[in-house]
Amino acid sequence: MTKTDDLILVLDAGTTSTRAMVFDRTGRQCALVQRALTQFYPQPGWVEHDAGEIWDATLACAREVLGRISEQGGGRVACLGITNQRETVVAWDRASGAPLARALVWQDRRTAETCAALREAGHEATVQAATGLLLDPYFSATKMRWLIDQVPEVRAAAEAGRLALGTVESWLAFKLTGGAHVSDATNASRTSLLPLALAKNGSTWDAGLCDLFGVPLAALPEVVDNCGAIGTTLAEWFGDEIPLTGMVGDQQSATLGQACLAPGETKATYGTGAFVLANMGSAVPRSANRLLGTVLCQVAGQRTYALEGSVFVAGSLIQWLRDALGLIASAQETEALARSVPDSGGLVIVPALSGLGAPHWRPEARGAITGASFATTKAHVVRAALEAMALQTHDLAEAFARDGARWTALRIDGGMSANDWIAQDLADMLALPVERPDFVETTALGAAMLAGLGAGLFGSLDEAAAAMRGTVRRFEPALDEGAQAARLELWQEALAKV
Ligand code: ADP
Repeated sequence: MTKTDDLILVLDAGTTSTRAMVFDRTGRQCALVQRALTQFYPQPGWVEHDAGEIWDATLACAREVLGRISEQGGGRVACLGITNQRETVVAWDRASGAPLARALVWQDRRTAETCAALREAGHEATVQAATGLLLDPYFSATKMRWLIDQVPEVRAAAEAGRLALGTVESWLAFKLTGGAHVSDATNASRTSLLPLALAKNGSTWDAGLCDLFGVPLAALPEVVDNCGAIGTTLAEWFGDEIPLTGMVGDQQSATLGQACLAPGETKATYGTGAFVLANMGSAVPRSANRLLGTVLCQVAGQRTYALEGSVFVAGSLIQWLRDALGLIASAQETEALARSVPDSGGLVIVPALSGLGAPHWRPEARGAITGASFATTKAHVVRAALEAMALQTHDLAEAFARDGARWTALRIDGGMSANDWIAQDLADMLALPVERPDFVETTALGAAMLAGLGAGLFGSLDEAAAAMRGTVRRFEPALDEGAQAARLELWQEALAKV
């Protein structure tokens, strides 16, 4: 069988669902299987997953997708890549391989007080300088400590030296390989325990940070490259042993899947929230504007970095219009409604429904709707909601520029990016070309590229991107500067009110 038959299996362990996909070397998606994941909300602000369910669903999806491939007449699966929801923490018993507690999901805010105490004690500057991250419950370290403090089974395992802690890729790698305890550098860079700068002896956790957060080094995985010979799946899972050759956090994966491989190249994913990452090359990024520094990828021991900013409310604003206000029946309707009026009639929506993310970082802020009059219609409200996407992105673009990462173009993906009106409005308000790939599964594609590189199907990430990334549609800026400035002014006025 020639190399062109080599297929790549990708497991995408997301927040709301788990998916398994198979790609060929040209980036064609040959099959996809998906399962929903149960969300547990035991208290306000708490969000949990069942790690056992994540593993069972992942295994079931992978087996089913491989079954479909063999029904289609096959091709050889050369390698496996994993991409995952980041920051979510799993605690398990190394000896039995069983989870010891529910997984604490990235959205979980239960460690807000711990973070506030660390901030008040003056630790934020040190943590940010070392890890690129702010002190926020979002990141893994305080969640790990919470599990040790609050769950007797986790504490007992720690005391007995049987505790394994990891993010979701680490958990899946452990199960798939039958015991490898590893985490890739992108996922590790979201814990608050990994220094951004490479240590002389390679990727390692920082003992001082582990002390500060109270996380035992012995429970942490080995930090590995994003691609290479990470492990091999046990024969009992898929019949054949499949080499695990790629692992990467979902946002970094999408950035690579969008081929943001050179400094300045930037992607924005518009889903429930919006995540923007800009490639910063090989220099450790420093933000003076409350953006996050993070590892974009680590290949052959060399790191490439990214600056990251996220907007909390993007597609969820459209869901709110639909479910809470009943203004629309489906998200798809918003495009025609926005086009049905020439402008928002002066209406501005500041979508701080769950606070404001980067560059404002004001979790306590709440939303505002300003400029309403008797002339305001449903179409104006919908248009203002869609306009809020480009306005929030514009603020992020300015923060990135102040941190030395001026965007040259913006590559978009995620469910909302299907809306052509939003894509054009982004181009207009940013005064930049906006590119949208025809194949929008960029998260899975990035993991496929890395796995392919790790298995030797490609010689470099550039080669993988050239082979696998398909065609894109470009939206060119068309709004005049006066109109752009007028909208920005209204936005700034509304922002000042929240
Ligand atoms: P996630 O991965 O965060 O679950 P998706 O990438 O699947 O999200 O995107 C879904 C979100 O995008 C939903 O919040 C939905 O309201 C929004 N959305 C989907 N299609 C459109 C559209 N055509 N116009 C505007 N918003 C949309």
